[in-house]
Amino acid sequence: MTERSQETLRVGVIGLGIMGRPMARNLARAGFAVTGFSRSRASIDAVADAGVSPGASLGTTIAGADVVVTMLPDTPDVVAVVRGEDGLLARAHPGVIWIDTSTIAPSMAGELAAEATRRGIRTLDAPVSGGESGAVAGTLTIMVGGDRATFEAAGPVLRAVGKTITYVGSSGHGQVTKLCNQVVAAGTLLAVGEGLVLAERAGLDTDAVLRALGAGAAASWMLENLGPRMLARDYRAGFFVDLQLKDLRLVAEEARRLALPLPGAALCEQLFRAVAAAGGGRLGTQALITALRRLAATGESIDPSPTRR
Ligand code: NAD
Repeated sequence: MTERSQETLRVGVIGLGIMGRPMARNLARAGFAVTGFSRSRASIDAVADAGVSPGASLGTTIAGADVVVTMLPDTPDVVAVVRGEDGLLARAHPGVIWIDTSTIAPSMAGELAAEATRRGIRTLDAPVSGGESGAVAGTLTIMVGGDRATFEAAGPVLRAVGKTITYVGSSGHGQVTKLCNQVVAAGTLLAVGEGLVLAERAGLDTDAVLRALGAGAAASWMLENLGPRMLARDYRAGFFVDLQLKDLRLVAEEARRLALPLPGAALCEQLFRAVAAAGGGRLGTQALITALRRLAATGESIDPSPTRR
């Protein structure tokens, strides 16, 4: 990677969804020669306008890259792209840097990194936070695990998509840091939802409540970005409920491995599961408030007399 200048450095981006698309655009804008590949042709075509070359196949996208960035939904997707017959282990040149920005199981991140390293591929697990808006603005927070020299070498690529980029330790530690992030993020979103349901039930001017809370100790990214959407009942996805459930499952697995109780995260998982059970898996995570509104019994009436037959 180091022999090429930033202008000609070839970056292959695999997984052009909500996050991967804007990240590929920002990499192209930063001057890298970007090729994008995803499962659906429509996703590949969607980034052509931004100077991202369409990848003909997974294998050619990987074989033609100095840096491979993966932004895939879940652990099995990353495993398929790495171990598949047309995948990273089969097609990447030695010396290539593979940066996995997906959120996956830390143990598998470590395993895949070890397999890639044996093939001469340098690896980083680099999950992100900041949502779709952060990906579009190129201001993601990135939590990076892996070899420090690889981290330094990948700096220009990481800086093209992120703003706060933190080296947190060896392979897998980026993923564990992301799980810590999800514990805080999901708990905060639940608190925002409960505060707003209280405001609604009390008949307050909810926009005024949002403004007041946003100026004090209750301010947060969740309140600022997702609070208004909760009130407007705008559940279009920036981050799918199904992916949040995947992250909370990874949190639960890690907590179990460490014999660690995380009651708040467990409660969040149950409530997100209620949203998914009601058909909301492909809604954005702000749809958490729909479960709280259902608990507030806005739709169901119960006979208040327990003894009446
Ligand atoms: P997404 O579902 O919108 O995008 C994933 C893309 O990967 C899809 O286009 C899908 O077709 C493609 N894909 C899946 N398997 C593939 C394969 N084998 N080969 C090629 N392409 C494949 O998801 P997203 O919201 O972009 O999230 C991606 C990752 O980033 C997830 O791990 C998620 O947890 C994490 N993340 C998301 C957000 C967010 O706000 N959306 C924020 C931080 C982290």
